[in-house]
Amino acid sequence: MIESFDADVVVVGAGPTGLLTAIELSLGGVRVLVLERLAVPSMVTKALGIGALGTEALQRRGMVSAIAAAEERTFAVMKKLTEQNGPDARGRGSRFSGHFAGLSLIRKDAQREPERRAHPVDQQAVEAMLAERARALEIEVRRECDVTRVVQQEDGVEVEWTSPSGTDHIRCAYLVGCDGGRSAIRKMAGFDFPGTAPTMTMYQASVEIDYPERLLPGGWRRTSGGVFSYGFLPNRLVMLDFSGPPEDREAPVTREEVESVLRRISGTDVCVKALESGSRWTDNTRLADTYRRGRVLLAGDAAHIHSPFGGQGLSLGLVDAANLGWKLAAVIRGEKPESLLDTYTAERRPVAEGVLANTLAQAAIMRPDPQAGAMRGIVANLMQFDDVNRFIGEIMSGLASRYDLGSERDEVGRLIGDKPISHGDASVSLYDAMQDGMGVLLDASIDGKATRLVTASTQRIRCVAVDTGPSMLIRPDACIAWAAEDGSTDGLEEALRRWFIPTRDDGLPLR
Ligand SMILES: Cc1cc2nc3c(=O)[nH]c(=O)nc-3n(C[C@H](O)[C@H](O)[C@H](O)COP(=O)(O)OP(=O)(O)OC[C@H]3O[C@@H](n4cnc5c(N)ncnc54)[C@H](O)[C@@H]3O)c2cc1C
Repeated sequence: MIESFDADVVVVGAGPTGLLTAIELSLGGVRVLVLERLAVPSMVTKALGIGALGTEALQRRGMVSAIAAAEERTFAVMKKLTEQNGPDARGRGSRFSGHFAGLSLIRKDAQREPERRAHPVDQQAVEAMLAERARALEIEVRRECDVTRVVQQEDGVEVEWTSPSGTDHIRCAYLVGCDGGRSAIRKMAGFDFPGTAPTMTMYQASVEIDYPERLLPGGWRRTSGGVFSYGFLPNRLVMLDFSGPPEDREAPVTREEVESVLRRISGTDVCVKALESGSRWTDNTRLADTYRRGRVLLAGDAAHIHSPFGGQGLSLGLVDAANLGWKLAAVIRGEKPESLLDTYTAERRPVAEGVLANTLAQAAIMRPDPQAGAMRGIVANLMQFDDVNRFIGEIMSGLASRYDLGSERDEVGRLIGDKPISHGDASVSLYDAMQDGMGVLLDASIDGKATRLVTASTQRIRCVAVDTGPSMLIRPDACIAWAAEDGSTDGLEEALRRWFIPTRDDGLPLR
C-alpha cells in the first residue's frame, strides 16, 4: 500500500546529524519526518567523545544536564581504570585536552578558550539525548525504513522506502540526506564525492586479553608495526594497521584477526581470549562537491568522510545540522529565498575541507616508517611552542573556523561560546536564551537603538540588553552575524536583511 505523509522535509538517517537537523527544523516551525533504516539505534562503538562545537550545538538545545551526566559516567569509569592501570592523559584534571596524530600534547593552558573543550561522551549517549529531545518536540522518527529511491521534481522530492510492511513513498518539499558515509541519497541525487582511497585499516574492539598489563601503560603507542592504544576505557583496544586497506570491509571482524594484528603491532606476546565487539574503519577521505543539489541537501558523514583521528566527525556533522536547520526552515516558511541555502555549502564545506586535510596529515605522521617518525618528532617538538600548540588545538577543536561573512571584525563569522549575559542585577546564560532556536541580539547601547531596529523588522530574534559591549547579532547556530562598539548600529540593518528579514531573491523586503 502506498502511504502518504505530509512533511515539509524528510530527513534520511536518525544518527546524530539527522536527529539534530530534525530538531532544528522543528524549532523553525517546519513539519519534518525522519526515516531510519535500523530498527533500534546502532550499538557499534564509534565516537567516544564529542568536540567543543558539537557539544555546544547540543547545549544550545537543552542538553546541558544530559551531557554533564554522561560525562560524569565516563569520568567515573576512567577514574577506576586510572587507579588500576596508572594515569592516562585523557582523564579529568589532565592538563592536556586532546591529541594530534596520537601526540597527546595539546595543552589546556595554551588555548585561548580552554573552557570550550571536547567532552568524553560517547555516540550512543549523544544519540539517546537527541532522540529524547526529538520525542519532546513530537518529531516522528520512523524506523525500519530503508530509503531506496529519490526523485527530484521541480516543486518537491519523491522519496520511496522499503519497510517490513512493504514499499511506501511520500512527497516532500526538501530532503536532507544524513545517511552516513555510504550515503545512498548522495549517490541517488548525483553528488560527486571525490577524494583519496583508503590506505590503512583501523580497528576498534572490546576485548579480553590474557595478560593486559603487557599492553600498558595506556595512551597512544607507536611501534615499528603501527599504532595501538589499550585500556583507556575498560577492555577497549584501538589499532592502526598501515599494511593496507581491508580486503573485505564487510567481513565480520574475528577474534583471530584482532589477535594477530595486535601481536604484530604491539610486538607483545598476548592472546585475545574473547572479542566482545569489533569493527574496522579506514582512512577513505572524500568530500561532496556541493552540499545541495536542488531540493536535496547533505549533512554529516553523508557529505564528508575521513579517518576518525582526533574525534572530529560527530562535531562536524552536528554543526552542519545547526547551520542548515534554521536556514532551511526560513526558506520553507517562505521568509527567505532558496539562495540562503547556498550559504550552507559556502560556510560548511571549507570547514570539512580543513578536517579532511588535518586527518590526512595525522595519518602521514603516524605511519611506522622512519621518515614519518622523524617528521612526527619535529611536530612534537614544535608543539612545545605555545603558538603552535594553540594553532593545533584550535584546528582540532574547530574553534579556528570562521565563516567569511565579509566583515573585518574578527568575531564576525565565528561561533560564539556560552557566556553569562548581564544587565543590572540580572544575569542569564546566552545559550539559555537560544534554546528555542531564536537568534539573539546582545544590545550594549544606552538608548536601545539596536533593539528598536530589530523588533521593527523580525520576531525571530530575542533582544537582550547587556551592560558591556560589543553589541552582537547572533544567528540561531551561534554564528556572530554582526558586531559593533559604542552603541553603533552601522551594518546591523544589512545583517538583518541578509539573515532574518523576509526578503525576495533580489534582496528586497518581502512585505
Ligand atoms: C571508529 C570511529 C571512531 C570515531 N570517533 C569519533 C570521536 O571520538 N568523535 C567524533 O566526533 N567522531 C568520531 N567518529 C565519527 C562519528 O562516528 C561520525 O562522524 C558520526 O557517526 C556521523 O554521524 P551521522 O549522523 O552523520 O552519520 P551516521 O552516524 O552514520 O548515521 C547515519 C544514519 O543513517 C541511517 N541510514 C543509512 N542509510 C539509510 C537509508 N538508505 N535509509 C534510511 N536510513 C539510512 C543509518 O542506519 C544511520 O543510523 C568516529 C568514527 C569511527 C568510525
